[in-house]
Amino acid sequence: MIETDVLIVGSGPAGSSAGLALGTYGIPNMIVTKYGWLANSPRAHLNNQRTMEILRDLGIEPEVIAKASPQDILGNAVFCTSLAGEELGRLRMFGTEPRRRADHTLASPCSMCDLPQNFLEPIILGAAAERGTKVRFLSEYLSSRQDTGGVTAEVKDRISDQTYQIRAKYLLGADGANSKVAEDADLPLEGKMGVAGSLNIVFRCDLTKYVSYRPSVLYWVLQPGCDVGGVGMGVIRMVRPWNEWLAIWGYDINAGAPQLTDQAAEAIVRNLIGDQHVPIEIRSSSLWTVNDMYATRYSRGRVFCMGDAVHRHPPMNGLGSNTSIQDAYNLAWKLALVLKGKANPGLLDTYNEERVPIGQQIVKRANKSIGETGPIFEALGLQPGIEVAQMWRNMEARKNATPEAAAQRENLRKAILQKNYEFNTHGVELNQRYRSAAVVSDGTPEPPFERDAELYFHPTTWPGARLPHVWLQKDGRQISTLDIAGKGRFVVLTGIGGERWIEAARKVSSAHEIAIEGFVIGPGRDFTDLYGEWAEAREIGESGCLMVRPDAHVGWRAAEAGDEQNRLSAAVTRILGR
Ligand SMILES: Cc1cc2nc3c(=O)[nH]c(=O)nc-3n(C[C@H](O)[C@H](O)[C@H](O)COP(=O)(O)OP(=O)(O)OC[C@H]3O[C@@H](n4cnc5c(N)ncnc54)[C@H](O)[C@@H]3O)c2cc1C
Repeated sequence: MIETDVLIVGSGPAGSSAGLALGTYGIPNMIVTKYGWLANSPRAHLNNQRTMEILRDLGIEPEVIAKASPQDILGNAVFCTSLAGEELGRLRMFGTEPRRRADHTLASPCSMCDLPQNFLEPIILGAAAERGTKVRFLSEYLSSRQDTGGVTAEVKDRISDQTYQIRAKYLLGADGANSKVAEDADLPLEGKMGVAGSLNIVFRCDLTKYVSYRPSVLYWVLQPGCDVGGVGMGVIRMVRPWNEWLAIWGYDINAGAPQLTDQAAEAIVRNLIGDQHVPIEIRSSSLWTVNDMYATRYSRGRVFCMGDAVHRHPPMNGLGSNTSIQDAYNLAWKLALVLKGKANPGLLDTYNEERVPIGQQIVKRANKSIGETGPIFEALGLQPGIEVAQMWRNMEARKNATPEAAAQRENLRKAILQKNYEFNTHGVELNQRYRSAAVVSDGTPEPPFERDAELYFHPTTWPGARLPHVWLQKDGRQISTLDIAGKGRFVVLTGIGGERWIEAARKVSSAHEIAIEGFVIGPGRDFTDLYGEWAEAREIGESGCLMVRPDAHVGWRAAEAGDEQNRLSAAVTRILGR
């Protein structure tokens, strides 16, 4: 029987990231994946700042940036009747509006970028394999059973058709929206699958003349019939600027899956472009469904699920792959500590406490975003059931010099602005504040959100929140607070007058045999705060202490110096559950 510490089913964003993080932390792991290669179509594409921070910590940010389209060219949500047709409105998205750009710049050392899943997965999995992940392609997970010592999985080799067993201490189900692992673990799921039908058409076409003056990753096309199924509009999505694309079009799920020949696919694409002559090469097409489902528990015993296996939702807000990578990152350091015998297995329960609320939030957010296209249709007079010629007349009516037309224009403007809740949810992406046994309260109440919590990021060092980013200085270089944290270890940050925390960190580290590094921030110390921004961001006194977990979330904090070793030891012991 093949043996490993952690068996991961699936090599998508969740599974490959789990392998990479576990390999980085020195945990033997193996990925089995059903097909002969990775994602065969672009699917997910937007990497938000939190994901880029994780990829930075795991050492692959430079390669991702080198292959990705930068934030600057993602920016215009264009609403139009076709690419060649009339443009109805625009919204600057993904932090490219100048004030939102400032929010992004202040929030993170990383920028968001666009790298389709079929380009991202090989980078993550390649790095994982380099760091020791054993990868078995054409290997299908069939079933598993667990006992007190581990999990035995039945796997089919799809070349020889033979089944064999893999024994692991833990099994991770990263096997996507039809997860067999989640089913076998009988994870409780709420919601509905197959709410609406959608099709993806990947095509090549030089669209430079239609898009380069309004660069974007998403062009939204309102045409009669475009609100049937799918994501509520027709979409032309950039895969590679400006000659590789993905068209998204809905279908009526109650009428059954359509037969999508290349000719039918080309007809859909041509209508969306609005040009019957431009050369088009259809590369592939596939059907998928809009789902609205999440698990209320991600684990059972030694089986843990992540990614689409436990949150299944449409691509609105671009949260699918991002949340999958973040799930893996949350679980990996905990598994590493448990497998190394440094933490009680109870630490793994905090994966549920911390990630289940995030999964529920993103499923609800993404499905709500589909509904929020309704007011755009209403403002344009595109009510369901009216005939096509009347739709065009209603749209045209907004150009008149009448009070009704002025109201129509204003309603359209507001309806498009409302789509900020799909395209600029910086808060959803970064305001993840964990509440669990792996977070030790300092007795202070949670700081309220001063601005809309979905749209705006509110940095705080309140235990459970992600460590705020500010640029510090060392030896003439700037370094982010987030660069000091991470790398699989705990970190203690203090200032002048808090030096005893560093000594305490050393002692607690050696008592628990876990890595805890301590740094003093201040003139003449490990890092300097020349801009004075850390003094503003830390929310504790200079001699206080921030204890940061390996995933860069604050595990505990102390406002001032005093009784350092006992207090730090108590906090670390609580987190490790020992
Ligand atoms: C057709 C389609 C289009 C999408 N479009 C978008 C989009 O435009 N934007 C967006 O943000 N998101 C999109 N998504 C969602 C996004 O791709 C997912 O959120 C993301 O891929 C989830 O990552 P994951 O690792 O959890 O699962 P997946 O990427 O689905 O990976 C699952 C993995 O498990 C493997 N697997 C499955 N069953 C088994 C088994 N029994 N044994 C072994 N291996 C198995 C698969 O081969 C695969 O490697 C799309 C998804 C699909 C299916």
